[in-house]
Amino acid sequence: MSAIAFTGGRGNEGLSALLSAFGMLAGTSVLAECTFTYSRLLRLMDPQNVRKRPVPSIPRFNFDADRCSHCFKCLDICKHNAIMRYGDLIHYAEHRCTACGSCIRWCPLSVLQFEYDDDVLLSYAESRYGPLLYTDSIVDALHQPAMTSVILEQARQMMNVRKIHQLHIRLPRGQGEAAAIAASSADAVVIVTAPYPYALADLKSLVLFSRKCGHLPLVLINKVHPSNIILTDVLNTYCQGEGIPVAGKIPYDPLFPEAEQLGLSVIEYDSATNCTSAVKEAWINISQRIANIT
Ligand code: SF4
Ligand code: SF4
Repeated sequence: MSAIAFTGGRGNEGLSALLSAFGMLAGTSVLAECTFTYSRLLRLMDPQNVRKRPVPSIPRFNFDADRCSHCFKCLDICKHNAIMRYGDLIHYAEHRCTACGSCIRWCPLSVLQFEYDDDVLLSYAESRYGPLLYTDSIVDALHQPAMTSVILEQARQMMNVRKIHQLHIRLPRGQGEAAAIAASSADAVVIVTAPYPYALADLKSLVLFSRKCGHLPLVLINKVHPSNIILTDVLNTYCQGEGIPVAGKIPYDPLFPEAEQLGLSVIEYDSATNCTSAVKEAWINISQRIANIT
């Protein structure tokens, strides 16, 4: 089994169109959409047979400070530094909590509890290229790490049950705790960039983030055009200097928006153009890299 995490720069740089094409090329994979908005990718994937279930494991943490004996066992138990000590008191950092429940099981006095919030619905759907998991409920920033963990756990269960070997994770936006949880759980990170004015700064920051999550990422340069060839070279030179593999350069092509308007991936729309050949070649490079890692 392998898991690939995909992320993009400021405008996400055509990530939805590329992910839908990669989904087609992969055959069958599970898609964990962790951006917490009903994205263009989901429109392209055209979710069918959607079943929504409340997610009972998005918790609000309830800590009864009066009953705490200050034994500080929970500090050692929490692997995510979500519980900290301030003098004789403990402090709970909700944004770091993944809702694993370990501290609750270990607290000898049962003073740590979750209160469950059933407002968040997880959607399980079918698409032309495999199952999708996502939520279109509003998930606030504090609950995103927990929600990310839930989506990924459910996605992996789905892979086991259906014997599907590849998981595509669309990382939550930004580089916060939720994105770090998702990236750290993957076998590889693919950064999609494009030659726009702030692209190098965004790329450097995403490379740093990927490295912190334990990956040397792959980079895909999208929307390459004769008019932005200098910026493309800047991105390429940076990658070469850092030893970062460039999985491909995808030419800018109006085929992408045309396909999207019809709700199709570019591979379904027209599979024999320069741009679709570049997408296919990039996918081969990504697949080979994953095969070498896993
Ligand atoms: S394990 Fe329970 S009793 Fe001990 S410090 Fe943590 S919350 Fe308090
Ligand atoms: S539920 Fe897990 S991540 Fe959250 S505070 Fe407890 S041990 Fe830490």
